Amino acid sequence: MDSAKIADEDLAQQFASDNYSGICPDAWRVLENANRGHVTSYGDDPWTAQAANAFRDLFETNCEVFFVFNGTAANSLALASLCQSYHSVICCDQAHVETDECGAPEFFSNGSKLLVAQGEDGKLTPDAIHELATKRKDIHYPKPRAATITQPTETGRLYAVEEIAAISAACKAHGLLLHMDGARFANACASLKRSPAELTWKSGVDVLCFGGAKNGMPVGEAVLFFNLPLATDFDYRCKQAGQLASKMRFLAAPWVGMLASGAWLSNAEHANRCAQYFAARVAAIPNVKIVSAVEANSVFLESPDDTLERLRARGWRFYTFIGGAARFMFSWDTQMKRIDEMLRDLEACAAEAHAAATG
Ligand SMILES: *Cc1c(COP(=O)(O)O)cnc(C)c1O
Repeated sequence: MDSAKIADEDLAQQFASDNYSGICPDAWRVLENANRGHVTSYGDDPWTAQAANAFRDLFETNCEVFFVFNGTAANSLALASLCQSYHSVICCDQAHVETDECGAPEFFSNGSKLLVAQGEDGKLTPDAIHELATKRKDIHYPKPRAATITQPTETGRLYAVEEIAAISAACKAHGLLLHMDGARFANACASLKRSPAELTWKSGVDVLCFGGAKNGMPVGEAVLFFNLPLATDFDYRCKQAGQLASKMRFLAAPWVGMLASGAWLSNAEHANRCAQYFAARVAAIPNVKIVSAVEANSVFLESPDDTLERLRARGWRFYTFIGGAARFMFSWDTQMKRIDEMLRDLEACAAEAHAAATG
């Protein structure tokens, strides 16, 4: 089909997910630049080398860097590299690895079991790690080997540097490695105003999955090993899993653009600002309540089902299966006027639903 026939109104901005957005100019520019001539395949190219070095500069350390197609693969393969099949991984009940990866972490690790802790807003605590790590010591139970935290969490909450350090200390006390799912890591850096280094290896994180797709990249996530020996043979693991891109330059080039210009951070700052703008105005709408504190680029709302149905009928898309509330996500390119349109419709729908309910 000719793309000219896709109407602009079918492409209107939505707030269902930050991965509804397109490619930001800085990523696009270097992607286009990389589309010249022939270079060696499978990562042996100048863009892949440049992107990896840019990550080492950004994180102020000599980490091992890999590029995969998506976050599920990044998390699963990273966790698999920390574990033997008889090991287990401690996570929170809302963790993406537990709820949204279709068993991929268990699959790619050949059976390492996820040990799930109940938590507030998707946050794992040192106490929960201690409890699960000491629950059983016998040979019949999968041996805890790692813990994973999501920064920001699936419901948009942040771990402060001190919290990450405390989690890392709990991990070390029990011989556990620490993985961070950073699908929206840039939003955490932007909101906490702490450096990528402080939020990861300086606080004891062994491996980070750094998300790109939700922050203005076309595709792809980076896997960063700060604990270098853990990266041994990770390239083979990627290849076996179908995650080794032959044209690796096209996964790496957008990162070169994002890291060189600082778009990785300014994109996230914009998305976070949009969430704050929306939250501040939503608070004034009757019969709509913000649930989780707004700390990154998402806002979770509770309101009667009728309100949400009316909002959907007006063409708005949003998810309600994450954290049990209606989720609104903001992107690198979110337009304020589109947020205002959404707010007007939400206010109208809430009023209509209220009128219908009270007769
Ligand atoms: C989006 C997301 C991922 C990655 O999802 P993919 O669709 O596999 O790229 C991982 N973790 C969290 C918390 C996410 O929100």
